[in-house]
Amino acid sequence: MLKMASADTAIIAPVGRLRSWSVRHARFWEIMYQMFLPLLRFARPIITLFPDAFIRPLTTAVERSLKATFFDCNMCGDCVLSSTGMSCPMNCPKSIRNGPCGGVRENGNCEVEPDMRCVWLDAWSGAAKMQNAAKNGWQINTLQTPLDRSLDGQSSWLTVMNENAHDTAATQKVVSPSKPSTSPLFKKLNEQSVTLTAEYNPPDTTDPSKILAGAQSLLEVCDAVNVVDGAGGNTHISSLSVCTLLAQAGHDPVMQISCRDKNRIAIQGEALGAAALGIKNILCLTGDGINAGDQPGAKPVFDLDCSTLLGTLKTMRDEGQFTTGKPIDTPPDFYLGATANPSAIEPEIEVERIAKKIEAGAQFIQTQFCFDPEVFQLFFDRYTARGLHEQAKFLVGVGPLSSAKAGLWMRNNIAGIRIPDSLLERLEKAHDQKAEGISICVELIEAYLKMDGIAGLHIMAFQQPDKVTEIVRRAGLRT
Ligand code: SF4
Repeated sequence: MLKMASADTAIIAPVGRLRSWSVRHARFWEIMYQMFLPLLRFARPIITLFPDAFIRPLTTAVERSLKATFFDCNMCGDCVLSSTGMSCPMNCPKSIRNGPCGGVRENGNCEVEPDMRCVWLDAWSGAAKMQNAAKNGWQINTLQTPLDRSLDGQSSWLTVMNENAHDTAATQKVVSPSKPSTSPLFKKLNEQSVTLTAEYNPPDTTDPSKILAGAQSLLEVCDAVNVVDGAGGNTHISSLSVCTLLAQAGHDPVMQISCRDKNRIAIQGEALGAAALGIKNILCLTGDGINAGDQPGAKPVFDLDCSTLLGTLKTMRDEGQFTTGKPIDTPPDFYLGATANPSAIEPEIEVERIAKKIEAGAQFIQTQFCFDPEVFQLFFDRYTARGLHEQAKFLVGVGPLSSAKAGLWMRNNIAGIRIPDSLLERLEKAHDQKAEGISICVELIEAYLKMDGIAGLHIMAFQQPDKVTEIVRRAGLRT
């Protein structure tokens, strides 16, 4: 049984008190639901006696008022409360249907709304109280499909009555097993003992020579570079355009796609275009909240989440069709990746979250920075015990801290990053903090590479890409 964070100790905004009570009493609601379901089915022949114009608004109004009171229900029209520990996922500011995201704060509160407890931590907490966990496996582990937004405001009860469904929780369509990828990164991850990828934050310019020059030092020592997609919610040159330049220059870029900025129409079109332009590797991200970036007034999209994005791209590749079923002439040959956060405050939940991403289609995992090998080991022991390292290649995220001040800023401002005090103190005392940051990074690399199941490293050297070569050489990974 997973050990769950207690909703009882949560910091609860007044508006969320009943919602929190419902999560704490998820077993009660489960019993109610089990009693209510046959009644709905029983009511089916009766409601057909009345005109739809009468029954629909009436049922919708009753459902809305009850569920809004107890669950802060948003009437998405595809209710999954019985699979999410009675915590409505539509209260997540990123509308994640397969959560939590990687940005949960150290106190269990939301990355986007710091005064609200993460609804997905509540969901796991509620799910642990429900009997369906013991009887049928964890329903919260069910991979949810992209939400049909045209159902917004409609009654899920009527769906159950009309379709005689046994549960409104939809599951991701299971598609055929993936073919081996022709991506060079796939080949290296399968043939090399340590594969290196690095994060590239390209300059905002229209000059291709500057874009290629900026990546040069990374390309010399790494097997592939990730090009960020509006990292941190900030406006930058697109990942697609920079990856295209890199692919045309004979490199093997990893294009990042964030669900924050585009809906499923734009994402599928962009991914297909990327494949046509020679890009094979795609890293799927839910994306940081808008509030963290330079355009807090922008509209966050979050039509998909990381898992439903993975499923969408996998369907395009393996089934040769868009999510609508419309066929694709010459399907893309994507090598699909996803992210993980080994420092997540609930490692058990994080492992299950990655398992879902792998089930959805992730073939490689690149992690957020992890500055503490002991914390990493706790997470990775669970991860390998689950056999996930055999299902997707795992690259640990590392990077140099330029100073104690920079480390403190990262810890306070980048969601999901934890940096131990001892490490910041070590930097503070150092004569040359930049050099000390590189030494720490090399020591972390050595510690991680001693662990079985690590396929490589993902190096993130924000604003100091020139240090990647030194780190790699000092760690003895390249000459
Ligand atoms: S922390 Fe992430 S998953 Fe949790 S409620 Fe906030 S945005 Fe949603």
